[in-house]
Amino acid sequence: MSLIVQKYGGTSVGSVERIKAVTQRVAATKAAGHDVIVVVSAMAGETNRLLELASAVAQKPDPREVDALVATGEQVSIATLALALIDYGQPARSLLAHQARISTDNIYGRARIRNIDSESIMSVVRQGAVAVVAGFQGVDDGFNITTLGRGGSDTSAIAVAAAVKADVCEIYTDVSGVYTADPRVRPAAKKLDRISYDEMLELASLGAKVLQIRSVEAAKRFAVPVHVRTSFSDEEGTWVVQEDSTMENVLVSGVAMDLNEAKVTVLHVPDRPGVAAKIFTPIAKAHIVVDMIIQNASEEGFTDLTFTVPKGDLDKALSMIKGVATEIGAAGVVSSESPIAKVSVVGLGMRSHAGVAARLFEVLSREGINVQMISTSEIKISVVIEAKYAELAVRVLHQALVEEGFEEGAT
Ligand code: ADP
Ligand code: ASP
Ligand code: MG
Repeated sequence: MSLIVQKYGGTSVGSVERIKAVTQRVAATKAAGHDVIVVVSAMAGETNRLLELASAVAQKPDPREVDALVATGEQVSIATLALALIDYGQPARSLLAHQARISTDNIYGRARIRNIDSESIMSVVRQGAVAVVAGFQGVDDGFNITTLGRGGSDTSAIAVAAAVKADVCEIYTDVSGVYTADPRVRPAAKKLDRISYDEMLELASLGAKVLQIRSVEAAKRFAVPVHVRTSFSDEEGTWVVQEDSTMENVLVSGVAMDLNEAKVTVLHVPDRPGVAAKIFTPIAKAHIVVDMIIQNASEEGFTDLTFTVPKGDLDKALSMIKGVATEIGAAGVVSSESPIAKVSVVGLGMRSHAGVAARLFEVLSREGINVQMISTSEIKISVVIEAKYAELAVRVLHQALVEEGFEEGAT
């Protein structure tokens, strides 16, 4: 007998029919002798609808009230699923974040889970019932409702799994697992049987939204085995687990793209110590995540500094930096005219094999795709390109580095 956390995403609870399918799966797991905690997301499309509603009634929606509004999507889905389970003969109890004791900090829209007092969830489980917990939401010290950022139910599920020491956290979604590329962009993508936490961290941070990045951080930190699989069949999915010695044999395990960043350039910045700190400290204080940074070679004591931020934070970042630019004597701040995409390749095998970068540049140049920025880590290479080439880049890179197999020196 195991303790299993099952997370169902929006599509998996998107209709009466899908909720009935989830009901049967949960009841069958319970009937097989396991204890089950379910974490659910809002029904497909609901979070977007609620966010649009907020923007329709307010020009600058107040963050506290936005969270109070969007968190209702999950209230509907937990109560609906609990109703269906009880009707099916399987005792169940829905729990909102304050009832499940999921405490967060007070950063609305991107709150972090601080603590989960597992007692309240486990008391439901001990009574033989299924605890149906609202994903995506938390509660801060002042009892305000917070939300964890888009895709946050994954993080709720893995944090709950860590708190109750579950044997596995199953993430049920609309694809059969983690693929070598988004299967909607590259239908030839292959499902991975296993992937290490570190590779999944990179893929998630680089745009593969199949798991929210914070959920992978939590899974790694607490060593929670994660099984990403489809709610549409019993097919085995992808296990996200600790690295082992065979994993380095795979050179490139995934290609990802991210269209959610924007590029900012601070022009003609005096090249002296302390200037970068002046620019980036206020941005960090505003909880804006700066991703790539490049600085041009200095010319006569001046340089251009370019970096990327999430699109949603662009206006805020620009207005902050404009003030700083004047203060430090830079010529000005501009954001890129054409939208950008970040395209990345990830693989543990890149640690020990040179040449992936060269092959990547060769493939992109053959398609006439210009590389604007580059960043690398031990196990990934990311490039910023014009957004209109993003899907093409994923396709050709996947073809060259995954489908055809990469041979060292074959550039
Ligand atoms: P859910 O609502 O179940 O949380 P999401 O839409 O958040 O589902 O995440 C699943 C989606 O992630 C898939 O439909 C797929 O298009 C996308 N995706 C992006 N990259 C990958 C990848 N490498 N492997 C699998 N799915 C991916
Ligand atoms: N419902 C939330 C969203 O759409 C959380 C999630 O799906 O994980 O972002
Ligand atoms: Mg998701």
